[in-house]
Amino acid sequence: MLDKFLDLNKHVGRRNQLVKKLKSKGITSDIVLYAISKIPRHLFMDKALEEYAYNDSAYPIDEEQTISQPFTVAFQTQLLKLEKNEKVLEIGTGSGYQTAILSLISNKVYTIERHHKLFKKSKKTLSSLGYRVKKNIFGDGYDGFLSEAPYNAILVTAGSPIIPKKLLNQLSIGGRIVIPVGEKKQIMTRLIRTDENKFERESFGEFRFVPLLKNKK
Ligand code: SAH
Repeated sequence: MLDKFLDLNKHVGRRNQLVKKLKSKGITSDIVLYAISKIPRHLFMDKALEEYAYNDSAYPIDEEQTISQPFTVAFQTQLLKLEKNEKVLEIGTGSGYQTAILSLISNKVYTIERHHKLFKKSKKTLSSLGYRVKKNIFGDGYDGFLSEAPYNAILVTAGSPIIPKKLLNQLSIGGRIVIPVGEKKQIMTRLIRTDENKFERESFGEFRFVPLLKNKK
């Protein structure tokens, strides 16, 4: 118990430096900056990488995947414009760090991961640190997660060559999807569902993600 407490309070100074850096790069959302200042990113990474955890960089996790760069996490979360009582689906749980950020903003977080090892590990990390998630789902999120739709927000944390139609159909009216679109590099894209068949599309610059994969049926 005491160990966990000490671990949570470790690196407070480094986290505050990271917040400063993210502000200087254009992150303005108070709730996002608050979440970054609170969440112990080092506990979502390999112990061997602990001293790098508050650098603004992506790092390897298991299964050849990566924990996204803090700026990317903050930027995507800011674009979602998520509110407390809104339902959000994250596709690509990975380490669970982004999930933790979402859980400090919304009380209806759903997250899906296709690698069993990452699914299990992230679920354990999140629950041991007390971050509340409605459902950690193991499976292919390429087509979203229909049984809990519609969502006010969908966040895709892997790069997709196209925007899967089924994801758009799982947004509520007024709902937002933030998805990096492209193959080798991606353009951060937000679509807002303004009506049953109407979407407003905006682009926000270039990023690099591991690919969004589709399981073979
Ligand atoms: N948010 C995570 C990002 C991890 S990288 C973090 O910062 O830690 C992207 C993740 O998406 C990987 O874990 C990968 O396994 C997962 N992924 C890729 N395609 C997927 C799919 N179709 N369904 C669910 N997860 C997927």
